[in-house]
Amino acid sequence: MFKKKNVFEKINSYFKKKGHELILSIFLDNYNNNEIYIRFDYVPKLDIYKISWVDLHFFNEKAMAEYINTQIVTGFIAGKIIEEINKNQYDSMTFTNKDILGDRVEFIIYSPTEKEYVFDRVLPEELSKLSNIFILIFSYMPRSMDIILSEIFSRLDGLEEVYNHLKPVRFDLLKDDLKKYFREPSILRGLEYFKTGNVTYLEHIDNKYFAIVSGRTNYLVILEEQDNNFVHMYCTCNCDHFCKHEAAVIFAIRKNIEHKFFKVKYLGDDKTLFERVMDNNYSLCYGYKDDKILIVSPDGKLIEYPIKKGNEVLFSVLEDDDSLSLSEYIDKFKEE
Ligand SMILES: [Zn+2]
Repeated sequence: MFKKKNVFEKINSYFKKKGHELILSIFLDNYNNNEIYIRFDYVPKLDIYKISWVDLHFFNEKAMAEYINTQIVTGFIAGKIIEEINKNQYDSMTFTNKDILGDRVEFIIYSPTEKEYVFDRVLPEELSKLSNIFILIFSYMPRSMDIILSEIFSRLDGLEEVYNHLKPVRFDLLKDDLKKYFREPSILRGLEYFKTGNVTYLEHIDNKYFAIVSGRTNYLVILEEQDNNFVHMYCTCNCDHFCKHEAAVIFAIRKNIEHKFFKVKYLGDDKTLFERVMDNNYSLCYGYKDDKILIVSPDGKLIEYPIKKGNEVLFSVLEDDDSLSLSEYIDKFKEE
């Protein structure tokens, strides 16, 4: 934080020297891993307004001008921004959320009086009238920033869950009430899935739980424990909310269920990039089907891969189940 403060001071004094008057700033602090500082300035000697922004991840104070992006704002839009600022009645407000990691927004109006608004991830309803300023300012930002603006507005849009379920959340996997993040139907379906044995594999490796949940097809669930009780939940089902597969795995974890994956190593020597990535280590395997082996790819996908290419058997078994069923299955391909 001290380092950032230092950088702000340098950027601000750079603009001051150029005769810019700071009217408004927005700092996106660790927002989707971005550190973006945005300013809206008036330049009296030219009587123009400018929006400038700096990505602090790509910033070198020795060549500051090279790293600052600036656009002149048309008189009409500048007028609209000023109008919105003058209409603003909110006192300074802070809305932080201890269940959110990063994604902080610091919005400061400098004139006529200084007001500061701080919130995590989503613009709260209590500050909804600031949304016009966000829209006007972001219309000068690169298109890649649109996703951040959508996320900032997600509470106003009723889409907060869509963004939240992709991010780490503060959740004790063993104790916390699932209702904190999961919808009621997902909890009920998840419990049913768990009870009917749909969690077919579940293993805790380092700080991650890997699981296969069978439903219409097989789904991979990865629950990654992070510091301070934060968990990142991932499922291959592409739901836009915390899903029944993730809920089922949490129920299984709470009942101490473990069903280890097979571990296999790829042996093929004619390798694509994907195969080379897989080759570095072992892969989790969740069984076999006909002439294919079922594995978890390094990028978190479930794939079916041929056991044999030509005469070559492509996998060796590093860890089997008690009845050595995978070794036995693969050995059959060696004999053919
Ligand atoms: Zn799912």
